[in-house]
Amino acid sequence: MIDLRSDTLTLPSKEMLDTILTAKSGDDGRVGPSGRGEDETVNELEDIAAGLTGKEAALLAPSGTFGNTVAILSMCDPGDSILVDERQHILISEKILFDEKYGRLKPIKYKLTENMTPDIEMIDKLLGESGAKLICIENTHNYAGGYFIPVEEMKKIRMIADRHGAKIHLDGARLFHAAAGLKVEIEDITQHVDSVMFSISKGLGAPVGSLVCGTQEMIKKARELRKLLGGGMRQAAIIAAPGIYALKNNVGRLHEDIDNAKHVFNKLNGKLTRIIMQKEVQTNILKLQLSDTAVSPSKFCSMAAEKGLVIGPVSTDSVRLVFYKGIDAAAAEEAAEIILALDKII
Ligand SMILES: *Cc1c(COP(=O)(O)O)cnc(C)c1O
Repeated sequence: MIDLRSDTLTLPSKEMLDTILTAKSGDDGRVGPSGRGEDETVNELEDIAAGLTGKEAALLAPSGTFGNTVAILSMCDPGDSILVDERQHILISEKILFDEKYGRLKPIKYKLTENMTPDIEMIDKLLGESGAKLICIENTHNYAGGYFIPVEEMKKIRMIADRHGAKIHLDGARLFHAAAGLKVEIEDITQHVDSVMFSISKGLGAPVGSLVCGTQEMIKKARELRKLLGGGMRQAAIIAAPGIYALKNNVGRLHEDIDNAKHVFNKLNGKLTRIIMQKEVQTNILKLQLSDTAVSPSKFCSMAAEKGLVIGPVSTDSVRLVFYKGIDAAAAEEAAEIILALDKII
């Protein structure tokens, strides 16, 4: 079986798990006068994350959802309006920030352009009308199909945010895929935002965790919120050590996943009769649109599974293929063959 449902399916290697046995540990939930916890390995991971993103400080969170939540709540009050694109993960999937019982933030929705980057003119207009003080962006964009926001666009969003006195939060669950796809450094992207969340549990291959990075003041608030929400973890070296391993060893290979996704795209391009692919593959996700076929996404997925390819629906009319560590070029080739065969019978 070739399982392309998500890059969260990466499994830790033995070498990665071995790092846990020798990692120095302590109670990360016990915050000293320095404002940091007592787990040295967590602190080391947070320092590495802050360094990579060029931010003053960082905080380990149990998940991407948790990281986005504490980051955004540390910059907002209940009732505040924030800008979010209409297909953004925090809006469509996480929801908690906009739930009237919980986060109580009001989403002001902007659109993505044809290139799947934020519509900057619309952001400018909406900021002016609403007086909102936070813009949320996603790089790479999950539901759009792994599209990145180029550095030039990031700069433009920064300029507009500055003009309106607004901050920017980046949901960078796949920040490292964006950097690999754009062939730039992480900081080239993150220097244009105030706060960023990135996941170590997706393509980077660690079992658990995300990092939130920002100013000292913002991270201090996020740390307090993490505790209140029950996200403080004690001997979290067992999470942080694989995270450090992932940042040292698994970043340089991300282009392999991008190459595999592009290979499948190129192999299918021009040969499909009913399935419509996304316009371009930029990173490790390929979305297939089924609206011109006679099958539903769930039916398509079960037909694919019968042929040995496990994939999942991402909307009412599309499915996606996600490439990650553990899926080699041969598996990608086979996945493409299966999609080609299915295209002829649906
Ligand atoms: C997966 C994902 C998240 C949430 O991460 P979890 O660890 O699953 O909570 C947030 N944003 C984007 C864009 C994602 O793809």
